[in-house]
Amino acid sequence: MIAIVRGSQVDLSVTTIVLAENPNEPLTLKMWHCPVCQNRLFQHGGSIIKIMPGHTPITRLPVIIQCDNCKAKYLIERIALI
Ligand SMILES: [Zn+2]
Repeated sequence: MIAIVRGSQVDLSVTTIVLAENPNEPLTLKMWHCPVCQNRLFQHGGSIIKIMPGHTPITRLPVIIQCDNCKAKYLIERIALI
């Protein structure tokens, strides 16, 4: 995907993770581990409903997280289940 990083256009290789709210577990947090190196990356609520290579825009402002250990990049899309 093309992104702007510190004012420069770069082509990022990302894995997209789609998170959806789970009304049955509103207060439960889970840990996301990097699938490449098992490093702990972030906590999330809800359910992971899709993991896919690359980026298909779903929300206007997705968040990109980079693994400190192996430098893999994950793009987090949070959606509400309808
Ligand atoms: Zn990693």
